[in-house]
Amino acid sequence: MIPFNKPYFSGNELKYIERVCHSTTMSGNGEFTKKCQAFFEQKYGFNKCLLTTSGTDALEMCAMLCELNPGDEVIVPSYTFVSTALAFLREGAKVVFADSSCESPNMEIAQIEPLITKKTKVIAVVHYAGVACDMDAIMDLAKKYHLIVVEDAAHSIDSFYKGRPLGSIGHLAAFSFHETKNISSGEGGMLVVNDERYIHRSEIIWEKGTNRAEFYRGMVNKYGWCDMGSSFLPSEFNAAYLWAQLEKLDDIQGRRKYIWNRYYDGLRNLRYSSVKQACIPDYATNNGHMFYLICTSNDYRTKLMKYLKDHDVQTVFHYLPLHSSKYYAKKHGDRQLPNCDMYADCLVRLPLYYELENIEIDHIVKYIMKFVEKNG
Ligand SMILES: *Cc1c(COP(=O)(O)O)cnc(C)c1O
Repeated sequence: MIPFNKPYFSGNELKYIERVCHSTTMSGNGEFTKKCQAFFEQKYGFNKCLLTTSGTDALEMCAMLCELNPGDEVIVPSYTFVSTALAFLREGAKVVFADSSCESPNMEIAQIEPLITKKTKVIAVVHYAGVACDMDAIMDLAKKYHLIVVEDAAHSIDSFYKGRPLGSIGHLAAFSFHETKNISSGEGGMLVVNDERYIHRSEIIWEKGTNRAEFYRGMVNKYGWCDMGSSFLPSEFNAAYLWAQLEKLDDIQGRRKYIWNRYYDGLRNLRYSSVKQACIPDYATNNGHMFYLICTSNDYRTKLMKYLKDHDVQTVFHYLPLHSSKYYAKKHGDRQLPNCDMYADCLVRLPLYYELENIEIDHIVKYIMKFVEKNG
């Protein structure tokens, strides 16, 4: 069976973890944490990076930094992982779900403005599959209505919008290093603070509401309770694991993009059938995070997935619409989000991981073509 995912392993993870075992700092904010944060700040020009224990935690920090009051509204796509919405809901905000566009699972830009009210404070965008949303349009809206933009960049490491790294455009951004992402530390994430105004408070929230980070830098001679916060820092063990992966980032990205392109070329002729490929707008890059197909119906997808399973290929679908979830449906009401429902019903993801071999990709392509030839 070709699995859907296999976490990448660089070979240096254990060596670096051993170094942590023999060091005096095993908790957070030590050597490896600083190396990882500096890597992102230097490579992508992110203003300030803080490692977190998950992408969800990074989103929660974003939501705390937005200083939301009860009744404030946050616009979030419905076709995303729960955490994008949950982080803001926990802060007492009202989540207003937006639909995806027809061309891609990203939010439909034209549908955002009608959702903005006097109470809207934040737009949270998700760059689905690492393919950028039209950020100029989003930032223009934010300027016009004085909104904060949070990028959920969980899929988006090493991807770009008009040459600008994703995660560097909004006021705040969150990355994930969950084992299903391009770079992983098992569970892990990172907050990016681009807007200078949030930097001071972000460190305090990160360190359980204290100014311990300043204390470590020698800026104050004792530290204490200053604000809200939680324990958002990962241990040095996680950071050491992450560092072993970051060292190989270019290699990982090269292989993943190669696999993506091999699928894309192999399935080129599908454009005329019941299965569509992703389209990448001119302003966006592809970072090899995910390869997906969109079927014409839910029934077609079920049959295709079953057929591939019978030929030893594991595929998955994802994102049950959040607006009609058991937890939120009542609060959402009956405003329809048809494109979101369509992606939830019809999108299927193919295996994509570093170790996936060319003959395996060709096997998968062959059986998809066979299925489509038979079923139209
Ligand atoms: C993975 C993911 C998250 C959450 O990240 P974790 O590290 O698993 O907490 C949030 N948003 C999106 C879009 C994701 O894919």
